[in-house]
Amino acid sequence: MSDVAKDQAAIAARVKALESILIEQGLMTTAMVDRTAEIDENEVGPQLGAKVVARAWVDPEFRRRLLENATEACRELGIGGLQGENMAVLEDTDEVHHAIVCTLCSCYPWAVLGLPPNWYKEPAYRARMVREPRRVLADEFGYAVPERTEIRVWDSSSEMRYWVLPRRPAGTEGWSEEQLAALVTRDSMIGVGSVRAPS
Ligand code: FE
Repeated sequence: MSDVAKDQAAIAARVKALESILIEQGLMTTAMVDRTAEIDENEVGPQLGAKVVARAWVDPEFRRRLLENATEACRELGIGGLQGENMAVLEDTDEVHHAIVCTLCSCYPWAVLGLPPNWYKEPAYRARMVREPRRVLADEFGYAVPERTEIRVWDSSSEMRYWVLPRRPAGTEGWSEEQLAALVTRDSMIGVGSVRAPS
């Protein structure tokens, strides 16, 4: 067995044990565990944020509402809930690029992006992103923000969870919302990547 396979087997065993205890103690039922897993797998994830971004790109009125009150605008699309009660969306432009971090822990807009990636929770990302965002973006994410573009780093908290409306890539004029949504990546909504049109 490879190391990765061993790690995965160990994690699976721990998950199983935890699940058994929760059910045994009457804290959860099997149905609740299954339902939670289903939500994580199919219902929350960056595809929801991508849907919001695509709508904002094609509908200027929606975009305006999204930037004014992200929580309310997302609710219009039936998106919201746990860890998405108070959200704010920052719009990228040629002049300003936004990037998100939680310096304290790992606050993240689950309702639109799903669960945070592991690196988002690492102390290295949380500390360095604030001090030297341009370098972190270039070194860790291979994303070179043009020198003329200012980088603003936003510190998410349980009171306010930030995410990014990335720039719409050139060459996507006339695309449908579905086509556009398929281009939007999780990283672009955290501000550690951009959205690229397929070449
Ligand atoms: Fe946090």
